[in-house]
Amino acid sequence: MIDPSSKLRRIPAVGKVLRELNPTALPNATVVSIVRRELGDLKKRECIPDHGEIIAGIQKVLIDRARSRIQPLINGTGVILHTNLGRAPLCGEAVEALVRIASDYSNLEYDLSNGCRGQRGGYVEYNLALLCGADAAMTVNNCAAALVLILRHLTGRDRKEVIVSRGQLIQIGGGFRIPEILEACGARLREVGTTNKTAADDYARAISQNTAVILNVHQSNFCMSGFVGAPSTQEIAALARAKRIPFVEDLGSGAVIPTEKCGVPEHEPTPAEILQRGADLVCFSGDKLFGGPQAGIIAGRSKLITALRKDPLFRALRCDKLVLSAMQATVDAYLNGTARESVPTLKTLGTSQDQLFDRAQKIVEAIQGAQITARVGTADSQVGGGTMPKSIIPSVTVNLVPKALSLTEFAALLREGIPPIVGYSADGFFKLDMRTIFPRQDTELIRQLRSILSEPMLQ
Ligand SMILES: *Cc1c(COP(=O)(O)O)cnc(C)c1O
Repeated sequence: MIDPSSKLRRIPAVGKVLRELNPTALPNATVVSIVRRELGDLKKRECIPDHGEIIAGIQKVLIDRARSRIQPLINGTGVILHTNLGRAPLCGEAVEALVRIASDYSNLEYDLSNGCRGQRGGYVEYNLALLCGADAAMTVNNCAAALVLILRHLTGRDRKEVIVSRGQLIQIGGGFRIPEILEACGARLREVGTTNKTAADDYARAISQNTAVILNVHQSNFCMSGFVGAPSTQEIAALARAKRIPFVEDLGSGAVIPTEKCGVPEHEPTPAEILQRGADLVCFSGDKLFGGPQAGIIAGRSKLITALRKDPLFRALRCDKLVLSAMQATVDAYLNGTARESVPTLKTLGTSQDQLFDRAQKIVEAIQGAQITARVGTADSQVGGGTMPKSIIPSVTVNLVPKALSLTEFAALLREGIPPIVGYSADGFFKLDMRTIFPRQDTELIRQLRSILSEPMLQ
């Protein structure tokens, strides 16, 4: 039923609405623009809601918008590299470097030894090459950009074909699909083998005068078992070398320390291993297992790296001073042997279940009460970020059931906090996985849980 009085209601003036809204952290210009748009939308409605409803509706839009501002949050999902939650948090050294480089001038492209123009990223690229056991290395915006630069550079008018096994035509996360990347680069995909089996001979027969590159793509986010097979990197490298065709491997995650040393049973190929087996170039992400800023790292033969650096497309993909300074600090931590202690991704992977248990126990004791049932539970953390799908890392959770709220309502209240807390619902509990929550966040977590549980509506 349409309320007859609604036909007579008028849309309030912008100024009047602005005076009645509660403040948010939004800039005034943003608030005015949202209010105008929302009031404009009312004109299209058949009946106008009453004044209080209009104000409440607009207030909600403002709050949602303010909440969408990038802000830190507490990750209780147990997914260590969560692309939606910003992948790898940076190590302390990288954060310090970021702050210092951000607020001052720097020698980004200035050679302090001779007072002339210097090479951007020269320091970090030297050390990255060392870390990857490569002749040379370079950085771009992300691993997708690395692949685009490599493929665009190595394919040309007369050599367009990129040979890829059908078992490696993968999709990573949202919108990154190997065949589509190739197409966007103007390359022609030459598929070889089948989904489950590809032989060295399949590669050999596909090579022609149109072949530009042989591309190996690490099956980072899925695994195949059963009747499967693919030639080794060495076999493909030998073929590529004999035919003088560049051989590139997209590693995706790129662990530079063997993952077994970090508490993960599965072995992720390292850039050094793949280069040693004969690949000419490898590329991987800076913000997956490497645990640095968003970047794409390319390592391999210096002749190819030098040529990539001179490609005009590189100018559009190069990293800025902030990324380079964070990368430089992270790479140095690896070379100094302190990465497993300081790089959060590695530290998170390597934390023992006992340590997590003690923290979970303290949290449970601190919040247990009439408003909530809290228990320590166990769960499996995941590496995430399209990495090591088989690796399940035993973890500890805080399992919660609030008395007066549904799990969905409780989850929403936690997301509304500052900082927001993100967990997941399973087996009738709201769960917070301790592995991805930093010990320094425990006090804040307890404070927020207590504050939600002491809200009048729950009493
Ligand atoms: C994650 C991934 C990429 C994309 O990396 P970004 O740094 O997100 O661009 C490319 N290839 C593989 C194999 C990956 O796992």
